[in-house]
Amino acid sequence: MSAYRDEDPRIHDIKTRIRIMFQDITTLLLNPKAFKDTIDLFVERYKGKNISVVAGIEARGFIFGPPIALAIGAKFVPLRKPRKLPGEVISEKYILEYGRDCLEMHVGAVKSGERALVVDDLIATGGTLCAAMNLLERAGAEVVECACVIELPDLKGRERLNGKPFQATMP
Ligand code: IMP
Repeated sequence: MSAYRDEDPRIHDIKTRIRIMFQDITTLLLNPKAFKDTIDLFVERYKGKNISVVAGIEARGFIFGPPIALAIGAKFVPLRKPRKLPGEVISEKYILEYGRDCLEMHVGAVKSGERALVVDDLIATGGTLCAAMNLLERAGAEVVECACVIELPDLKGRERLNGKPFQATMP
C-alpha cells in the first residue's frame, strides 16, 4: 500500500509543481527545411482526398494547419479557447490531466457534409482532439482524420478518438 494518500490535496499540489518534459516544436520551426518537410508529409497524405476544411487547435495547430490548408486547397478553421472568437460560437468542454478546458468554433464556419481534417502539434491523452472532433461533427462535418506532428504513445490517446483515423509524423 502507498505510504501517501492520493486524496491528500498536498500530493496533487506537489505534482503540479514538478517540471515535466515538454515537447517543444518551436525549435523545429527554426529549421526551414525540417518545417517544410513536416508540412509536405501531411500534404502528401491529404492532397486529393476531397478535404475542404482544415481545423487547427489553438495554439500550435495554428502553426501547422494553415500551410496544410493552403497546399491542399481547403479553408482553415481555427478552434479557439473560450471567449477569443468574436462571433457566435458553439462550445465543447473537455477534461485535461489537471482540470478542464473548452474549445469554440464560429457558427457557420463549417457546412454540413464538409470533409474535415483536424490538426494539432501533439496528442497526449486525446481529450483535446476528441473535443475538436465533437465540435466539427455537431456542425455536420465529417472528420476524415486527426493529424499531429507528435504522439505520446504511452498515454494511448488515439484509443480515445472513437475509432477515428489518426496520423502522427513522429511516434
Ligand atoms: P491531450 O488533450 O491530453 O491529448 O493534450 C494535447 C494538447 O495539449 C495539445 O493541444 C497540445 O498542444 C498540448 N500538449 C500537451 N502536452 C504537450 C507537450 O508536451 N508539448 C506540446 N503540447 C502539449
